[in-house]
Amino acid sequence: MTTTVPATVPALSTQDQFLGHPKGLYVCFLTEMWERFAFYGMKALLFLYLTKHHLFTDTNGYLLLGTYAGLAYALPLLGGLLADRYLGMRKAVVFGGILLVLGQLGMAYTGHAASGTVGNAVPDGFAVQIMYASLALIGVGVGFLKPNISTIVGRLYSDTDPRRDSGFTIFYMGINVGAWLSSIIVGYIGIEFGWGYGFGLSGVMMALGLVQFVLGRRHLHGQAEPADPALLKAPLFAGISREWAIYLGGMVMVVAVWQVLQTRIDLGPLSALAGGHEVTLTEVIAVILGAALYVWFARLLLSGISARDKGRMIMLMMLITVSALFWGLYEQTYGPWVAMADRTMDLTTFGITWNGPQTTNFGALFVIMLAPVFAWLWPRLDKLGLNPSYPGKFAWGLVFCGLAFGILAFSAANPGADGKVSLWWMILAYFVLVLGEMVLSPIGLSAVTSLSIPRAVGMMMGAWFLFSAFGEIIAGRLGTWAAIPPEASVADALATYADVFTKMMWIGLAAGALLFLATPLLKRLTRE
Ligand code: GLN
Repeated sequence: MTTTVPATVPALSTQDQFLGHPKGLYVCFLTEMWERFAFYGMKALLFLYLTKHHLFTDTNGYLLLGTYAGLAYALPLLGGLLADRYLGMRKAVVFGGILLVLGQLGMAYTGHAASGTVGNAVPDGFAVQIMYASLALIGVGVGFLKPNISTIVGRLYSDTDPRRDSGFTIFYMGINVGAWLSSIIVGYIGIEFGWGYGFGLSGVMMALGLVQFVLGRRHLHGQAEPADPALLKAPLFAGISREWAIYLGGMVMVVAVWQVLQTRIDLGPLSALAGGHEVTLTEVIAVILGAALYVWFARLLLSGISARDKGRMIMLMMLITVSALFWGLYEQTYGPWVAMADRTMDLTTFGITWNGPQTTNFGALFVIMLAPVFAWLWPRLDKLGLNPSYPGKFAWGLVFCGLAFGILAFSAANPGADGKVSLWWMILAYFVLVLGEMVLSPIGLSAVTSLSIPRAVGMMMGAWFLFSAFGEIIAGRLGTWAAIPPEASVADALATYADVFTKMMWIGLAAGALLFLATPLLKRLTRE
């Protein structure tokens, strides 16, 4: 029997398969698994490292966490574009991987701990600069690696291959297995042996992932090669090829991000808009980028697309916009949730004593457990006519997110006899939060691919991640509400967490309720 496949897809030989999927899938799985291992392990340590080692104030710690993660999710727009046009995915992944290894290893240089006290600390200035530069290397590295490794997965299957969705489900598992393992291992090593060992281990595992990717390249069957290799090799200026110009441009980007990460802006007369605070340069860039994206989108709508497509695109843009608020709440997990666990919780369950960074493992663990359940559930709900619409699912996402904060707020307001909160509350909160993630995150990706007009899919996918970036930045700013002075007692800290998490609960519930109300209207947009 002969099957016709589109020209871009290789006729994969059955020998190059493993467990019913192309071997290239496992190459991508392992690369992304170790990339996320490094990313999330480092992120789990970051807030406590900033506040305990370099004696950052809580406020500055939360803002840097949001700024850095925001840049790491915004840069894939650029990395994806450069790979599409010139570099091809394989080279982009290798370049991004090298930057990531350098950045993670750079984080391992911790210098000496700050002297003095929080608020009046004298940090090791050189070590702090190495840290900013390392965060910049990681941000740009993620930008080159993350979008492109996902695109390669898509290219391993033809458009009509029924294994495509399960391929992506396996890949998403890789992300979360990496995140889960690292929160436990990097969290343990970072706290027990020293911050630098935790960061260093992230770098070593990223390096192994990269070596594995390079060795496994033949399983990608040329699908990740540059669109026009001759163009890439041709000299652009001063004998430098386009390829090297891109690598040099990437390094310039690292230098730029290194500076952007530590730049604050006083808005002068406009500062009332930011509640009288100085804002980070990243927040200003985010507002400008967001406005530019809406202008691009409005022009796209006016470019003579059909009424049906217009409705679907407006719905998609609404969903993408709502996702920023969801991530703004969700990403409190790596900031105030870690701080609450570290400062106010009894972290022993079943005789195991966890530490603050390790508590982030429950998020990834519940994703691993619940993803197959939801994959099973949707087609069944569909058959019963009970499958919620896209806005319906997003509304549920916000409601679950709000409830998770409600659980944690309740626990903070009702500590045990020892004045501390049991970890079980946080485990329950993570479970409910991940229910929200499951009805929003994979659904959002699917909505992008199904609602967008074909010529704008790439850009809309970039927009999806850009709004994750906005979410991270919002999370940093919202996190500052939960800042507590270092001398605060456990009871004082809990009072703050109870108050702030209650507010966050109401934000999630109110936004969810509004979206439920708007759902019938939004559904009309996509009526055929
Ligand atoms: N947790 C997923 C990942 O790390 C999705 C994150 C997001 O889109 N904000 O890839």
